[in-house]
Amino acid sequence: MSFKVGIDPGLVNSGTGKSDTNSYELVIAGGGPAALSAAIYAARYGIRHVVIESWKPGGQAALTAEIENYPGFSSIVGSDLTNAMKKQALEAGAVFQTETVENTTEENGKILVRTDSAKYTTDYLIIATGAAPATLGVSGEEKYYGRGVSFCATCDAPFFRDKKAIVVGGGDSAVKEALHLTHVVSELGLVHRRDKLRAEPYLAKKLVEHEKVTTYWNSHLIEVTGDDQGVTGVILDTPDGKKQIDTDGVFLYVGTIPATEPFASLVELDKNKAVVTSGIVGTSNPRVFAAGDVTNNGFRQVVTAVSEGARASAAVFELLEN
Ligand SMILES: Cc1cc2nc3c(=O)[nH]c(=O)nc-3n(C[C@H](O)[C@H](O)[C@H](O)COP(=O)(O)OP(=O)(O)OC[C@H]3O[C@@H](n4cnc5c(N)ncnc54)[C@H](O)[C@@H]3O)c2cc1C
Repeated sequence: MSFKVGIDPGLVNSGTGKSDTNSYELVIAGGGPAALSAAIYAARYGIRHVVIESWKPGGQAALTAEIENYPGFSSIVGSDLTNAMKKQALEAGAVFQTETVENTTEENGKILVRTDSAKYTTDYLIIATGAAPATLGVSGEEKYYGRGVSFCATCDAPFFRDKKAIVVGGGDSAVKEALHLTHVVSELGLVHRRDKLRAEPYLAKKLVEHEKVTTYWNSHLIEVTGDDQGVTGVILDTPDGKKQIDTDGVFLYVGTIPATEPFASLVELDKNKAVVTSGIVGTSNPRVFAAGDVTNNGFRQVVTAVSEGARASAAVFELLEN
């Protein structure tokens, strides 16, 4: 099985859509499924808008080898799905800028969006900046990041062909990415802090029964060890005491942190830094809507992200019409 990951070069932002005034009816912050869906609807509604997406076109979904639960496709490479969404948005007339939103404020009844290279004013804002991987905060994790420690098996699996790897986590992402790794590695360890996986039972069973997989239940990774070349092993805290396991790679799927820092002064966030929503895409600020993994809506999937993105643009259209 072979996977291709990445943005279609034909879909790279031209950056020509910026209006002279940088003043819009709607700014959509983000570039994943939620933002792409919001962009399709905003363009079709004729809303004067710009989508500001940063370094990760297609978002987390584009870094996923295989998506098997998005209606209409029994299996699709994540980046193929997000590239198709972006193509559809561009065809509908959506305007994209490759910039990072750094901060947002409200001034004179408008929202001011500052990016790493420009300023925008807008009547309405959709926050669709998704989430970034959480870390364990253990010794060696940061030191060996990119030299054996990874958050993306889909991206890095080829470096571990016929080598040993460890996956930490028990949710859908951990299990899916672990299954992807079984295609290339010689041995795979699965470390989970509970005695049962949270992932979809069908995928969990497939992984646990895989001949290459050894499970470490009720266990915590407490240190990543290595040398000049990179990772050489991990130390686990298991019910039988500390264990040193030899490995070449460590893949971490221990949750995500919503990318909400630039919006902290504009909307209410919960204790996990997710945007608190009401009525699915509304926020504590009537000029701001939120969609996808950045919200506290809970079910973090492509299908929910695109649905919320669409609802957010529809809500803005209704307000502009009134
Ligand atoms: C390994 C893995 C496997 C998965 N498998 C599946 C699956 O099989 N099926 C499924 O339905 N879901 C799956 N998911 C979940 C799915 O990918 C997410 O739910 C979905 O991508 C969320 O979309 P989003 O648009 O809300 O956020 P994201 O996909 O996180 O996109 C956020 C975007 O915002 C951009 N951004 C962030 N900060 C800024 C900023 N300050 N300024 C501008 N842009 C910014 C990022 O660059 C990114 O492009 C998986 C996730 C992972 C990690």
